Amino acid sequence: MTSVAQILKTMEYGPAPESDAGAQAWLDKHRRSFGLFINGEWVEGHGEAFDSLNPATGKKLATLAQATAADVDGAVKAARAAQSAWAKKGGAGRARYLYALARLVQKHSRLFAVLETLDNGKPIREARDIDVPLVARHFYHHAGWAQLLASEFPDHVAVGVAGQIIPWNFPLLMLAWKIAPALAAGNTVVLKPAEDTSLTALLFAEICHEAKLPKGVVNIVTGAGETGRAIVAHDEIDKVAFTGSTEVGRAIRLATAGTGKKLTLELGGKSPFIVFESADLDAAVEGVVDAIWFNQGQVCCAGSRLLVQESVADRFIAKLKMRMENLRVGDPLDKGTDIGAIVSRKQREQIAEKVARGVREGAVLFQPERACPEGCFYPPTLLTNVEPASVLAQEEVFGPVLVSMTFRTPTEAAALANNTRYGLAASIWSEDINVALDLAPRIKTGVVWVNCTNQLDASAGFGGYRESGFGREGGREGMFEYLKLKTPKGMSAGLAPSTEPVLRESDAIDRTAKLFIGGKQARPDGGYSRAVFAPSGELLGQVGEGNRKDIRNAVEAAQKAESWSNTTGHARAQILYYVAENLSARRSEFVARIRAMTGTPKGQVQKGVEATVRRLFTYAAWADKFDGAVHNPPLRGVVLAMNEPMGVIGIACPDAAPLLAFTSLWAPAVAMGNRVVIVPSEKHPLAATDFYQVLEASDMPAGVVNIVTGGRDELSKTLAEHRGIDAMWYFGPNGKAIEQASADDLKRTWIGESRDWFDDSAEGREFLRRATQVKNVWIPYGA
Ligand code: NAD
Repeated sequence: MTSVAQILKTMEYGPAPESDAGAQAWLDKHRRSFGLFINGEWVEGHGEAFDSLNPATGKKLATLAQATAADVDGAVKAARAAQSAWAKKGGAGRARYLYALARLVQKHSRLFAVLETLDNGKPIREARDIDVPLVARHFYHHAGWAQLLASEFPDHVAVGVAGQIIPWNFPLLMLAWKIAPALAAGNTVVLKPAEDTSLTALLFAEICHEAKLPKGVVNIVTGAGETGRAIVAHDEIDKVAFTGSTEVGRAIRLATAGTGKKLTLELGGKSPFIVFESADLDAAVEGVVDAIWFNQGQVCCAGSRLLVQESVADRFIAKLKMRMENLRVGDPLDKGTDIGAIVSRKQREQIAEKVARGVREGAVLFQPERACPEGCFYPPTLLTNVEPASVLAQEEVFGPVLVSMTFRTPTEAAALANNTRYGLAASIWSEDINVALDLAPRIKTGVVWVNCTNQLDASAGFGGYRESGFGREGGREGMFEYLKLKTPKGMSAGLAPSTEPVLRESDAIDRTAKLFIGGKQARPDGGYSRAVFAPSGELLGQVGEGNRKDIRNAVEAAQKAESWSNTTGHARAQILYYVAENLSARRSEFVARIRAMTGTPKGQVQKGVEATVRRLFTYAAWADKFDGAVHNPPLRGVVLAMNEPMGVIGIACPDAAPLLAFTSLWAPAVAMGNRVVIVPSEKHPLAATDFYQVLEASDMPAGVVNIVTGGRDELSKTLAEHRGIDAMWYFGPNGKAIEQASADDLKRTWIGESRDWFDDSAEGREFLRRATQVKNVWIPYGA
């Protein structure tokens, strides 16, 4: 028997188990066997049923149906049939259902939390206090967006049927992140939970029933990767939303290329946790605990790379090791447990393998002495002496494993933080606000937490830069992912060939327009040029035939012009005003040139040039006005949602309206601080090559706008594959090849449709949103 003296010495907690009786009774009520939830009913699946296990005990919890492609088809058809009536309910009508779902999640919160813990292995404390409250919050918040939809998202309609695929680490929370915005916007959904953790999604299906959600609005199909593949491949899915591994995300990008399906990908991460010497070290130690030992480290935004300023590194690591000794690994149902079970044996093995490999490569392993139970458990682990380029520092472990490195200066911290293909989140610790807020914009991640970590809220968008995926979940930006513009108005106007005689440009023939790279006119690398003809067949001039090497040079020049991205909107506006003025002064030259190339009547061309000048003024006006937002999550702090430029954008222009479309694309990109590499209209490139002189006369810094003429599709493919390009906008017929080419580094792509470039819908917020990505910076604020 333990004596009081012993207890006082160890200060051990006694066991405090949460009862799982309610969850077990719920499973029994279903005879521990579940079908698929399609069209508001439970139906049998036609694939081979599989078991769902409790990872902490290895015991079977239930048998689940495996949805086949035919089952998925049934679910998609149900969702399709339900969609228009759901959309017609209007935002306010749908808001009632979302409120009802939020309330029902709260009403059944204990059952949800215990079931989640049984199925996933996460500590009950976390399921109860974090996952489930965030789920309710997500439905409440999105009930609000539904209510405000008409006024806040005018001209937008639901995308249609959303196919949603989620991972096992936050089964119910990821479901809420997917379903709440989709329903608020008026979509219907087919959702597939992860095969290891489907139970709370099935309980959620039940509460959809309880909330009297119309049949077919939410359909839940269980199964493994094949079921997911069938959702992605289904013709009648309009949007795919995926959270999971980068590898599967890439496969989904390839599978959806050219289909016109809207896509958001929330993928992996290797997020830095940066501790400055000016940090409150004890607070930062607690931060590390939340960053990497929350949910057993199975968190996409886990702070898995600890970067400590060298001057305090030894002291910090010593404190951290001491804290690790007190972490309790064990029964997830025990309220005193800090670290529960790893989700599956397979997952545990891969963690152990990665750690063993790191140790073989020279990393120094630290694990506390406190016992870790046998089975699907893994102790909190710290690896020091890790090289920045090593596998452990680069690859996601997705377990309770922290690697640590040191830095000397903030610049070195930024370089180490960004030394990854991912860009999901970062956490910065310093009591010196200047240090923290100076570093925040330099880190290429979708989320930055200052003196906090792993904070999530429905009001703040969440999502990554780079290979952590694209699109955002939560916040206003998350709503846009489930909306589309109402049908664009008409096709390009005013481009009918003229019967008037074509204007002669007799001097054009001797001159070959060069490329425009790094602020200079450059001969094409291949030494070839291509002829430009008038509609009559008359030769108008020559332009350079750009190739891979020219694109490489242009991208390099654009990368060097990084200071454009850091300059103020005010400064960018002045240059754009100047470009507008200089173009305006040369209107008649451009009118003549465009008439010669396209044979369009003079009045129409004049209108196009005037519209181009106006558009430049418009984007000059926008340059310092496309503000971010400040969100108020229910915590002590605010979230600054900053619209950051993408970086370097590749743009391939359509043939229609050769000057207006060209400017409608580069001007918003440049106004927002991007640098661009543009392939102008393949057929009518001379207006773009004449434009160099306007840019040169307007003090546009070298490398901000680069123009490479030549074959649009070939050059676009090179741009889409280039790792130095952060986003690719393509207006042409071959979107599929571009989306495929972008899959390797998961580049953001915009495959534009033909549109009326004269219309007001060809400028404004849609373009500005494409030109930016939101970084959410969480900062302490208020008492
Ligand atoms: P996973 O990619 O293997 O599986 C995710 C989901 O995709 C599962 O439902 C799975 O059945 C399904 N799936 C598997 N193959 C598929 C295919 N070919 N087509 C369609 N669907 C398919 O990932 P996982 O192992 O379940 O989850 C861990 C990963 O998820 C980690 O890499 C983690 O970083 C990432 N993650 C990211 C976020 C985020 O928000 N960014 C959140 C949680 C997890």
